[in-house]
Amino acid sequence: MAATSVELKTPVTGSFKLNTGLFINNEWVPAVEGKTFEVINPSTEEVICSVHEATEKDVDIAVAAARKAFNTTWAETTPYQRGLYLNKLADLVEKNIDLLASIESLDNGKSITMARGDVGAVVGCLRYYGGWADKIEGKTIDIAPDMLHYTRPEPLGVCGQIIPWNFPLLMLSWKIGPALATGNTVVLKTAEQTPLSALAFADLVKEAGFPPGVLNIISGYGRVAGAALSSHMDVDKVAFTGSTAVGRTIMKAAAASNLKKVTLELGGKSPNIVFNDADIDAAIDAVNFGIYFNHGQTCCAGSRVYVQEGIYDKFIAAFKIRAEQNKVGDPFLEETFQGPQVSQLQFDRIMGYVKAGKDEGATVVTGGARHGDKGFFIQPTIFADVRQDMKIMQEEIFGPVCAIAKFKDVEEVIKLGNDSEYGLAAAVHTKDLNTAIYVSNKLRAGTVWVNCYNQLHWALPFGGFKSSGIGRELGELALANYTENKSVAIKLGQTL
Ligand code: NAD
Repeated sequence: MAATSVELKTPVTGSFKLNTGLFINNEWVPAVEGKTFEVINPSTEEVICSVHEATEKDVDIAVAAARKAFNTTWAETTPYQRGLYLNKLADLVEKNIDLLASIESLDNGKSITMARGDVGAVVGCLRYYGGWADKIEGKTIDIAPDMLHYTRPEPLGVCGQIIPWNFPLLMLSWKIGPALATGNTVVLKTAEQTPLSALAFADLVKEAGFPPGVLNIISGYGRVAGAALSSHMDVDKVAFTGSTAVGRTIMKAAAASNLKKVTLELGGKSPNIVFNDADIDAAIDAVNFGIYFNHGQTCCAGSRVYVQEGIYDKFIAAFKIRAEQNKVGDPFLEETFQGPQVSQLQFDRIMGYVKAGKDEGATVVTGGARHGDKGFFIQPTIFADVRQDMKIMQEEIFGPVCAIAKFKDVEEVIKLGNDSEYGLAAAVHTKDLNTAIYVSNKLRAGTVWVNCYNQLHWALPFGGFKSSGIGRELGELALANYTENKSVAIKLGQTL
C-alpha cells in the first residue's frame, strides 16, 4: 500500500510532514483501489510527491460520511457553534500562513508574496462566513389572522465541491465558507494539478474540532472523482469553478442524476477599457495587474484591453515598459511577481495562443516566448492592433498574454466589450463619473471595476453573466446558493 504521508521541504518552511491520503471522516485513509498520482513542481518540472487518487468507491465512502454527519452531529450543532468552528479554523490558517503559502508556491508556482495574500484572503473569507452562521434568518409573513406563516432557510444537505488549480486554497474557502455556515456538509475535490495545500488545510479542519464527516477533502481526477461527485445520487448540490466546457458537463450530470442544485463559476474574457481622460499611470498599473496577476491564470483576467485612440500609442509604449518590469522567476523569491504556469499542458495551450496571435498578424509589443529553459515560465506578452475576430481576442487564454485594440467612442467600446460569450468581469478607466457609471451599467458582466482591477472581497458577490456561470459566490448572496427555503403554514385556533 502506498504511504499516506511524505516529508517535504521549501526554502521558507524547511522540512515538514504532509499527509497524502484522502481526508474522510477526519481520518487519513488510502484510496480503495490503491491508486496514486504524481504532483509536479511547475518551477522545476520535477515530481514533488504522489498523492492518493480517489475513484468512485472513495467518493461513495466520502459522501456516506458527509450524509451521516449531516443527519447527526452537524444537525445537532447550533448555528453559533458552526460559526465558532469556522472562526477557529480561520485562526489556525492564520497561524500556519507560511506553511500554507509555501505549499501553494511549491505546487502551483505562484509567488510567495501572492500566496500569502491568498491565504490572508482565506482567513478573511472563513471569518466572514463564520460571522454569518448565526444570522441566517427566515421571515414571518402575515397572510391571514387564523394562520401563522413563516419561512426557514434550511441547508441543502451534502454538497460536492470541485475546485480548480489557479487559487487552490482561496477557491476552497469560497466554497466551504458559505456551505458550512449554512449547515451543509461537504465533499471537496481539489484539482489534480494542485492537491497539496488542501491536504495541509485538512489537518487544521480536524484541529479546529469539526465533527468527523462534516468536511471531507479528496484528491483525484475530474473525469473520475469529479464525475462521480457530480452524478452522485446522494449529493444535493454541486459547486464548480473551472472551464466552461467542464461546467456544461457537470450541469448535464446533475440533470441526468438527481437534479442536484448547481452553481458554476466559469471562464471569462474580460474587457479592460481605458478612455483618453484616464490617469494613464494608474490605468497602466491596473491593466498590468489585471492581466498578469497570478500569471494570467485568473478567471476574471482583464485579457481584452481597449484603449481610446487619443492615447493609444502613448499607452502601448508606457505599458511595454511596465510589463517588462514584472519580475518573472523563482516563486520563493520575495521580489518575484510572476512564477511559472501551472502545468506543461497550460504552458502548451498558452504558447499555442501566442503562435495564433502572431500567425493572425497581431503586433508583438513585448514577450511572445518562454522565459528561461526550465519550468513552465512564459514572458509577459503584449499583442497590439488585435482585431476583434482574432482568436486571442475571443478565447480565454488563461496566461500572461494581453490583447490590445483601439476604439473611437463610448458606444463603440460598449459594443466591443459585450462582444463575447463570457460576462465575468470588466473595467473602466476614466476621470469622468458619467462615463464611468454609464459604461459600467451597459457592460454585461458580473463585476465592473472603475479605475482599478481585481479588487475582490469576500463581502462582495462574484460570478458571471452569460457563459461565465450560474449563481454567485461570496457575500450574503452565496448563502442563498446553499439553502432551500421552507415555507411553513400553521392553522391557528386548534389544540395541538
Ligand atoms: P477544468 O475545468 O478541466 O478543471 C477544473 C476542475 O474540474 C478540476 O478539479 C478538474 O479535476 C475538474 N473536472 C475536470 N473534468 C471534470 C468532469 N468531467 N467532471 C467533474 N469535474 C471535472 O480546467 P483545466 O483543464 O484544468 O483548465 C482548462 C481551462 O479552463 C483553462 O485554460 C482555463 O481557460 C479554464 N479554467 C478556468 C478557471 C476559472 O477559475 N474559471 C480555473 C481553471 C481553469
